[in-house]
Amino acid sequence: MQNSTSYIDLEFDQQHVWHPYTSTIIPLPCYPVESAQGVYLKLEDGRELIDGMSSWWSAIHGYNHPALNQAAKSQLDKMSHVMFGGITHQPAVELCRKLVALTPAPLQHVFLADSGSVAVEVALKMALQYWHAKGQRRPKFLTVRHGYHGDTFAAMSVTDPDNSMHSLYKGFLPEHIFAESAECGFYDEWCEDDITDFRNNLIAYRNELAAVIIEPVVQGAGGMRIYHPTYLTRIRQLCDEYDVLLIADEIATGFGRTGKMFACEHANISPDIMCVGKALTGGYMTLSATLTTKHVADTVCSGEAACFMHGPTFMGNPLACAVANASLELLMQGDWQQQVHNIERQLAETLPEIGKLNKVKAVRWLGAIGVVELHETVNMAEIQKSFVDKGVWIRPFGKLIYIMPPFIIKPQELSCLTLAILQILQ
Ligand SMILES: *Cc1c(COP(=O)(O)O)cnc(C)c1O
Repeated sequence: MQNSTSYIDLEFDQQHVWHPYTSTIIPLPCYPVESAQGVYLKLEDGRELIDGMSSWWSAIHGYNHPALNQAAKSQLDKMSHVMFGGITHQPAVELCRKLVALTPAPLQHVFLADSGSVAVEVALKMALQYWHAKGQRRPKFLTVRHGYHGDTFAAMSVTDPDNSMHSLYKGFLPEHIFAESAECGFYDEWCEDDITDFRNNLIAYRNELAAVIIEPVVQGAGGMRIYHPTYLTRIRQLCDEYDVLLIADEIATGFGRTGKMFACEHANISPDIMCVGKALTGGYMTLSATLTTKHVADTVCSGEAACFMHGPTFMGNPLACAVANASLELLMQGDWQQQVHNIERQLAETLPEIGKLNKVKAVRWLGAIGVVELHETVNMAEIQKSFVDKGVWIRPFGKLIYIMPPFIIKPQELSCLTLAILQILQ
């Protein structure tokens, strides 16, 4: 890919720059992006790719959005950052007001954090401090297989043990409880048996469990599984029945991606603690939040520490909050609902065609998420190049080819994404 006009030094990149989940011995090729606009990523050589990934779920309004740009520029001229200890500011207060309004009613307290993984760490710490304050020893978490909650240690400890290679970190990583994940798909008929293993584990470990943590309705990076909302309804009921907190990790699913503002709404449930991130700033900056109820927050603060024991340096970064406010304002205008609905309808029309191919094990979709699961693991470097040659940016992993485009994608652009998948698999 290196060419004479290239000013991004790809050789240096290969020799010195570590990319996500890559090897220094056999580096995979990287594509130099020069700029991005709307749903297009512009490569340095001038080629434009239709983005099927929203930069990992986040760029829901597309790139280089005038309202988001303006929010960042205006805030930059006031202050890009001040510490959050003992200081507050309008961008953070406004953002927390919006988050409290948008999320289920019982969630009233907002903790701003740096990234999705940190929001999960914060959620787990809240649950542990909650039980500590109540004088109970509850050191375990219950989750399900095929989950993904981030790459830091506590987040990794509740991520699928095989995908996150728990064996590598044995002795260091806390060991939690994994129940079988839902088998019943979103559009299948609900089968009550699906919750049996989860229920058995919850009952068996109930006196040790601080919380259940789960990705509502869509399991993202752990397998792109889209499961029946009743599975989530049952989890809420069981947590209530056996007095265990429920943490909903909405980092991938939040802000309209599944066709609801939050995926919990598919099951009409409210968690005790909720994590949001990824699309929070419309893909501009890293920012996340953990929300909880007044009951949990006040219990945490009634304990031995008399406060919640966390406070990152860049907490409540004004620049990130300002962009998040602009992104949420765009969402609150409401166009996303029709946009996501249209994407879902188009995926429902086109994916079954792809599902007929021999190489394909299954296809599934929900909202602005489309998934093609193959029988065999893809050759990443090869398939990535084929997609780029077809003018689309789709990044598969393992046996999964999946798309979650910006909500503003046009029908003919979405067709290019699904057609590229169809042609490459043919
Ligand atoms: C991406 C993701 C995380 C981790 O977020 P980072 O910002 O990458 O740390 C956690 N949970 C879920 C469900 C995610 O999709």
